[in-house]
Amino acid sequence: MKRTIFTKILSGYLVIIFSLCSLILIFSFNTIKSHYIQLLEQDLTRLALSVKVTIAPMLEEKKYNDIDALIKTTGPELNTRITIILSDGTVVADSEKDPHTMENHKARPEIIEASNGNPGSSLRFSATINEEMLYLALPLKKGNEIEGYVRLSLHLKDINPLLTKLEISIAGIAAVILIISVIGAVFLARNLARPIKDLSAASKKFAEGDFDVRVFLNNKDEMRDLADNFNYMTGEIRNLFGELSSQKDELHGIISSFQAGVILIDKSGTIILCNEKAKQIAGNEMISGKSFWEGLRNPDFNEIVDNVRMNRINKEGEIEICSRIYHCSASYIPAKDEIIVLLHDITELKNIEKVKKDFVVNVSHELRTPLTAIKGYVETIEDEIDDKNRNYIEIIKRNTDRLVNIVNDLLLLSELEEKGTRLTIEKVNLKGIIENSIKALEHKAREKNIEMKVEADEKVPLVRGDPFKLEQLFINLIDNAIKYTDQGKVTVTLRCEASNVIAKVTDTGIGIPKEDLSRVFERFYVVDKSRSKKSGGTGLGLSIVKHIVMLHNGRIDIESTPGEGSKFTVTLPC
Ligand code: ADP
Repeated sequence: MKRTIFTKILSGYLVIIFSLCSLILIFSFNTIKSHYIQLLEQDLTRLALSVKVTIAPMLEEKKYNDIDALIKTTGPELNTRITIILSDGTVVADSEKDPHTMENHKARPEIIEASNGNPGSSLRFSATINEEMLYLALPLKKGNEIEGYVRLSLHLKDINPLLTKLEISIAGIAAVILIISVIGAVFLARNLARPIKDLSAASKKFAEGDFDVRVFLNNKDEMRDLADNFNYMTGEIRNLFGELSSQKDELHGIISSFQAGVILIDKSGTIILCNEKAKQIAGNEMISGKSFWEGLRNPDFNEIVDNVRMNRINKEGEIEICSRIYHCSASYIPAKDEIIVLLHDITELKNIEKVKKDFVVNVSHELRTPLTAIKGYVETIEDEIDDKNRNYIEIIKRNTDRLVNIVNDLLLLSELEEKGTRLTIEKVNLKGIIENSIKALEHKAREKNIEMKVEADEKVPLVRGDPFKLEQLFINLIDNAIKYTDQGKVTVTLRCEASNVIAKVTDTGIGIPKEDLSRVFERFYVVDKSRSKKSGGTGLGLSIVKHIVMLHNGRIDIESTPGEGSKFTVTLPC
């Protein structure tokens, strides 16, 4: 059974009260009894003195029978037993018994004590008369010598009723004090327990969500402080809760009004929050509470979320749900071990992009035939033209070549960007491809007096890739290295590291400024327009390179210092 604070305080009080009462009763009974016996001893001493005066001459004359007769009459009158004992312990007279039948009294405690010359007393059980007795012995002296003793005895049964009466009245008083104390203890315990009970009831209500609960106490002690603090605390928490819930409403409003789908997934993979747009995308009003794979039932979405859950990284990708394309970005929230997913509808953007791509491809296709025709005619009339007009023909030829290059690069780029582009994958010897690329560009390097070198490890493993595309990649990189180098050399190194093959194209050319490094892979981005144009550049070469590298699951990095040269590092998995 649960013990309340009231019963605890009350039982504590009761234990103290009962212990104190019992102690007081025991001590007072003993004190009263010993005090009473002391008074009796004094009375007996006075009585013994008067008996001593009467019998002293008779004892001197050894009139023992007379003494016995005398005390047999005075003893009952005084309601006291009188015994006359000689110094050797022989009983010569007794008010209640025949002295001749009584044994020697020398060893009695009161006689031993009186043998020192002073009165001796003893309270004990008398075997002779089978009762508790109080004995007092007074020595009878002649000069310094003890002739005998007067011993007076009192039956305690006579004083016990008196003591009992006294004890009963003391017990009665104690009982009244006890009752008053118990009633007081009950009140005190209740007064002490009530504020605690009130506080406990209030805190229970508070825990159940009643933030308006307050405790008012009449006490002017620490309990009152506690109640005031409790009231202050509940007030503060109520305000805080109010603020929090209004913030929550605000946040909810913002999330609901989002044009993007918002989905919050907890660490167990359950959707714990989603907005209207997310429900609309999922085509299900009830996705909250479901697991993420059950909520959207889209393999690409599941893969992204799974990836974020497992690797605790942010991930994004494109997913298609019901013929619409969404940009799905899943971010990991480390503090709560949760994932927030945003789904942006990019269908329109994708359509525009596709229209643009189709347009570029169509235009490129349409331009290719007339450009090839122009190029052919220009080459035909080139031989017949006079020197005066040769310059015009050269300009037409150069620009036609540039246009043909742009058209070809655009078509290649569109092909590479096409979703699901198929590579003709086979085991490729990169060293051979690099050597072929260098061979194809040798004449260009020779024209500019640039030295070309290949440094390859003895054993470079074959890589899995499309040989045509990889050759295209190295031709672009080496061509750039020659184009943007005025003097010096171009070096291609091939190494194997871990499970990758690393190819580096290094030149001693003009280099690329730091601020342009991140942009050179963009389409049509050129650092120096006039130089690019002069060298027949299209601004699409590095874009093509990047796409090819990505299609091979590799990576490309650049290091460059203006005036010193550039280094393009291609890493391809073996
Ligand atoms: P382009 O056809 O103009 O060379 P790319 O896409 O191949 O176009 O290169 C983009 C730009 O990057 C170039 O215009 C040039 O400014 C810079 N670039 C590329 N390769 C090098 C290099 N090896 N050294 C210096 N600049 C380079």
